Amino acid sequence: AAKAAGKNRVQFFSPALLQLDDRAAAEAELRAAVADGQLVLAYQPVVSAVDGRCTAVEALVRWHHPVRGLLGPDEFLGLAEETGAVLELGEWVLRSACADAAGWDDGSTPVALHVNASPVQLAHPQFVDLVRAALAGTGLAADRLVVEVTETTVLDSPAVSATLDELVGLGVGVALDDFGTGYSALTTLRSLPIGIVKIDKSFVAGALTRTADAAVVEAIVQMAGRLGLATVAEGVESAEQEAFLRMAGITALQGFRYLRPAPVAEFGRWLAGNRRP
Ligand code: C2E
Ligand code: CA
Ligand code: CA
Ligand code: CA
Repeated sequence: AAKAAGKNRVQFFSPALLQLDDRAAAEAELRAAVADGQLVLAYQPVVSAVDGRCTAVEALVRWHHPVRGLLGPDEFLGLAEETGAVLELGEWVLRSACADAAGWDDGSTPVALHVNASPVQLAHPQFVDLVRAALAGTGLAADRLVVEVTETTVLDSPAVSATLDELVGLGVGVALDDFGTGYSALTTLRSLPIGIVKIDKSFVAGALTRTADAAVVEAIVQMAGRLGLATVAEGVESAEQEAFLRMAGITALQGFRYLRPAPVAEFGRWLAGNRRP
């Protein structure tokens, strides 16, 4: 009865608190989804600009919601980050993706596994332990894993910088995601142990029609090359975009042109026909 009274008070006098109430419910639902196996991973390949073969694969999370259907990360990651539920979600993603990737070994050239890490995960003091445990638990070699981070203020913190150094010490790679859209891009490249720069898909989308976007892509590729970093273009959809990117000197390509993010079995079949000997 006390709870009902509380609800009424909230409904009639405080819309903001009612929203909080809804958010609490959504958070509980998300945490339950992780525990109940409602999350799934989609896999999208990264292919070499030189020979078109698969060099890496990115794991992308989805939520099979029992009522709302299949949800993309943009529909639930914000809430997951604000509530901290992204810690459980991220742990599930890391373990599941490492387990899948360990199963793709067949004696041919290994494919690197890229996993996205939210700033909330990176700032968590146990993140390196979590990565170590996921590798040990699945048998995936550390040099097969790449953690994708985005440019946020979190990257400026000494603790996160130390975390990235520790990961690299283990043999894990670090990629800077959505490059060009964040802030302080150039200092980030200099101060953190980044090995791969992923050029945001907005620049790729505009590269053929907007000279400014083309110039940004060319400048990033040249600068990354001088810093000894590999470059991946995201969101490649057409042969014309691919041709431009290769001419610009890009290292690798990712996008619908090669494969849309696919369930693990479908990606496995694609990989069988597209891997390096
Ligand atoms: P992202 O890391 O930049 O991932 C690339 C996004 O571009 C994916 O969207 C992918 O489906 C989409 N994409 C791939 N190729 C193309 C293309 O050719 N054209 C276009 N228009 N789009 C393409 P998705 O799967 O909806 O993921 C959105 C974002 O959610 C990701 O952006 C990433 O920031 C985040 N995310 C996804 N999975 C995870 C995860 O497990 N953990 C965390 N922390 N974030 C994740
Ligand atoms: Ca990414
Ligand atoms: Ca990206
Ligand atoms: Ca993104």
